[in-house]
Amino acid sequence: MDLPGRHKAAIDDPIEELVGWDGSIAYLDRDGVLNVGREDYVKTVDEVVMLPGSGNAVAALRKAGYRIVIVTNQSPVHRGVFTHDDLENMNQAVLDGLLAENPHAHVDLVLYSPYAPWEHSPVRKPGAGMLQVGRQLLSNLTLEVKHQTSQLQHQFDEGRSFMAGDRDADMGAAYQHGVRGFRVDPDVGLAGIVERILNDDDEGDALEI
Ligand SMILES: [Mg+2]
Repeated sequence: MDLPGRHKAAIDDPIEELVGWDGSIAYLDRDGVLNVGREDYVKTVDEVVMLPGSGNAVAALRKAGYRIVIVTNQSPVHRGVFTHDDLENMNQAVLDGLLAENPHAHVDLVLYSPYAPWEHSPVRKPGAGMLQVGRQLLSNLTLEVKHQTSQLQHQFDEGRSFMAGDRDADMGAAYQHGVRGFRVDPDVGLAGIVERILNDDDEGDALEI
């Protein structure tokens, strides 16, 4: 069974419960949403450049009751471009960057897919596997990744949950997981779209195929 990697934790380590949480999760892509993306991948800590306002946007989502899960495709791991440890350092730099801007920009969970496209993993976006694992961990459910993402049964109330990302794969994952999808301008990042997200009547952007 394919599983995503989890930042500085075993995949099934328990997560602290949040009293009064309504079940809403902000599933956030990383590159082009929180930090500046690069065509040749963000490969080193020095290449982690935060998008202004992303820390404040994450803090605003938390204040609105969302729990925050980063779900990031990181095929360079299996392509041999960088290692899990390199990625851990880069993910930590993103988390530090968010908190440097706003001390309330706490991220609950960072999940990454190390798989390359030719591995056809359900935990690589546009598959919904990483989002499923995030839901299962935060809801303290038994960890299970379904391989037939096209035949998903939506068992959980996702509340106001959404997926925000700058690529078709992010929108596809939102669709497969059955949550609102928001297309992010990678030059602006999450700050450019957070007002729309916080409007519960905004149904998100359509999946363009
Ligand atoms: Mg991206």
